[in-house]
Amino acid sequence: MKYVRFEANEEIMFGVLEGEFITQLDGNFITGSAKKVDQTFNLADVKLLAPVEPGQVVAIGLNYKGHAEEMGKELPEEPMMFMVSPTAITGDGEEICLKNPDHRTDYEGEIAIVIGKEAKDVKKEEALSYVFGYTCCNDVSDRILQKKDGQFTRAKSFPTYKPLGPVIATDIDGNNVAIKLTVNGEVRQDSNTNDLIHDIESIVAKVTEVMTLNPGDIIITGTPAGVGPLNAGDEVTIEIEGIGKLTNPVSSRVPVK
Ligand code: MG
Repeated sequence: MKYVRFEANEEIMFGVLEGEFITQLDGNFITGSAKKVDQTFNLADVKLLAPVEPGQVVAIGLNYKGHAEEMGKELPEEPMMFMVSPTAITGDGEEICLKNPDHRTDYEGEIAIVIGKEAKDVKKEEALSYVFGYTCCNDVSDRILQKKDGQFTRAKSFPTYKPLGPVIATDIDGNNVAIKLTVNGEVRQDSNTNDLIHDIESIVAKVTEVMTLNPGDIIITGTPAGVGPLNAGDEVTIEIEGIGKLTNPVSSRVPVK
């Protein structure tokens, strides 16, 4: 299934996307009963929103060998985790507003794990039963501040720096899907999640050893080789097999909200 959160008739709704049509659900598909109601919309007539509003966004760094090499870093033995602000999230089609247009600010195409139920000390063998589904995330990163601060919170938490979407797909193998990122149509990252150093199960187990995750929380899992800068006027697209395309224009404007 492909789940969406969208705006239509000035209301925020939840639904299931099939082809070009959305069937509305009676509530949030993660925390509600999520029964289909007798109301369908044309995809073209609605505005898709980020499919989830997480309370926590956990990020994993250096989780593809090629990316660790290009950053000149050793491969971490355990998943290297950090937090970014959920207020950085924006949806498909929304602008990434560069806070510091004079700083090198990079795209990072990533598959995001969406947690489906409260998860604490989850065993690796049971980890997938805590995963609701997967979506695309662009982990936009201010490299100047990342280097200056020696940690990641400020560099990665500006409003609009975490585009998320367009759908949450529940029927894919998160450990084996193609992931591609283009800037202005030019391929910059082209990999498969089977190149993850720490797989989906290991990540869920390691993160929940530390903190309790709640339904709707997300873990972004690291980016493949090929990171590079975004500039105002660019258009960046992440495409993950079975999920779809997350496309965002880049500007140096101040975000609307
Ligand atoms: Mg990242």
